[in-house]
Amino acid sequence: MSYVEDQLNELIRTNPNQPEFIEAASVVLKSLEPVMEADGKYRKSGILERLTEPDRQIRFRVAWTDDAGRVQVNRGYRVQFNNAIGPYKGGLRFHPSVNISIIKFLGFEQIFKNSLTSLPIGGGKGGSDFDPKGKSDREVMAFCQSFMNELYRHIGPDVDVPAGDIGVGGREIGYLYGQYKKITNRYEGILTGKGLSYGGSLARTEATGYGLLYFLEAMLKANGKSLEGKTVVISGSGNVAIYACEKAQQLGAKVVTLCDSTGWVYDPDGIDLPAVKEIKEIRRGRISEYTKDHAHAQYHDGRGVWSIPCDIALPCATQNELGLEDAKELVKNGVFAVAEGANMPTTPDAAKYLQENGVLYAPGKASNAGGVAVSALEMSQNSQRLSWTFDEVDSKLQQIMNGIFSNVSSAAEKYGMAKNYVAGANIAGFLKVSDAMLSQGIV
Ligand code: GLU
Repeated sequence: MSYVEDQLNELIRTNPNQPEFIEAASVVLKSLEPVMEADGKYRKSGILERLTEPDRQIRFRVAWTDDAGRVQVNRGYRVQFNNAIGPYKGGLRFHPSVNISIIKFLGFEQIFKNSLTSLPIGGGKGGSDFDPKGKSDREVMAFCQSFMNELYRHIGPDVDVPAGDIGVGGREIGYLYGQYKKITNRYEGILTGKGLSYGGSLARTEATGYGLLYFLEAMLKANGKSLEGKTVVISGSGNVAIYACEKAQQLGAKVVTLCDSTGWVYDPDGIDLPAVKEIKEIRRGRISEYTKDHAHAQYHDGRGVWSIPCDIALPCATQNELGLEDAKELVKNGVFAVAEGANMPTTPDAAKYLQENGVLYAPGKASNAGGVAVSALEMSQNSQRLSWTFDEVDSKLQQIMNGIFSNVSSAAEKYGMAKNYVAGANIAGFLKVSDAMLSQGIV
């Protein structure tokens, strides 16, 4: 059996009940097969064993009081996966589905994503099964304060720098930051995605969505295509989806769908983004409200955006939201590119089907790396005690995303898998991290 197969079997044996983590690790390890086979040093140094075992996993109780005066208890997590190339970096997810498998899957992906940005950041992820939806601001604050009462001892500007993810936006980051400052009396860059008045970076809010479109543009250009006049289907209506929609529209495409966890909207005239921002960013409402002022648009309960004919699909909601049947429908309807704004939204069998049918497919660890890249730029600004202009950050983001595309595409070519951007992203991300690990010895 090959080194990769051995390791996959071992991972399955030692991580029971962690399907999301196993799925993510399988995709990466399988891509690394040619690299492992080409050089015996990797097996000898146990690189895959070390890479798939987090440096540290922290799990803690988060007790807080709800508005009815009752005490609630949630679970908090921080997985510090790998700091070979920089301090642990990765978001916090607050969602009822959060468990150790999901945090490990996200933390593992983050190692390679962060490596691809070319910036000095290691991989980590955290969160809680707390659901901010439907909670009052005071309840969210109470939860965040209690969460930070434990987290603060594990993070630091040169140690581990969390940020947002699903369920953690500007409001949550503000409460978390305030509590860190209260406990430690230190004003330092221990979180990114901060508000502009207290150390945040311009363009961080837009970064993941804009970065996705910059990556997509580079991928389309390399394949003789463009965005101009194309029909785009987007899932999600959070931060990533909103700013992906904004940049796609700026680049001349027509975006016709968005969705949330209860349903989806189809607007054949093109999504009215200011209306969506008002619903989602200001009122924290449901996407169904869109049809109130847009009578020609359709709202449907459940899922269904992938059934709308389009040229390009951008899954920007959550993991495993685009399965094999969806991929078949997209291909039947003529899709030519799928680029991920979320983390692993396409199931592995769906991704394989898209690639086999000639669809340009960009994996999230490459195409959604713009968010964490600008987080790293926020860290740089905090260290300098300076802030850069929107255009400075945005142009660095464009350069980074173009750099990621060319790095991913040449790694795929080098290993005889031209245009396989999944293999390219995994290999290119791995090479930098493994080089640093091998240089630093057995630690
Ligand atoms: N949660 C985002 C991601 O999946 C951003 C992480 C960060 O900015 O640290 O990459």
